Amino acid sequence: MTLAADAGAIDLRLSPWRTLYFGVRDEAAARAAVASARALGLIVDPNDSLLRIDACPGAPDCESSSVETRRDAHRLAMLVAAHGYTGRVHVSGCPKGCARSDASDLVLVGDAGGYGVAHNATARDPMERRISRQALADLFAEGRRG
Ligand code: SF4
Repeated sequence: MTLAADAGAIDLRLSPWRTLYFGVRDEAAARAAVASARALGLIVDPNDSLLRIDACPGAPDCESSSVETRRDAHRLAMLVAAHGYTGRVHVSGCPKGCARSDASDLVLVGDAGGYGVAHNATARDPMERRISRQALADLFAEGRRG
């Protein structure tokens, strides 16, 4: 990995949660590595709202999905941050729920190009209602709990 090599990485470790750790020679190298990682689109802030969202590959990588789960997860992360929503969100391309088997505060399951929505549920549970992708922002509108 060029980023780690440029920072003079001493060792490289990968966590089971897809987190990459490496030691560097000094603070300046650490700052440069973080800036480079951020520029690449990697998460460098432990409070990043994207870390509270589980999403499977979805479309187009999985043929069981009619929705682009990862793209929508990024959009949801911005909405979550903007509205101060503190719950855990699961975006699943279909009811199989590959990304998370436990219940989430808010779960969205792909359904014919839109999403089924449920609270405190898994992707396999009955959905409370169905929304279009365009209505994702409305989930966090004032007066709703997400
Ligand atoms: S949850 Fe469904 S759409 Fe997502 S990866 Fe698993 S099978 Fe594919």
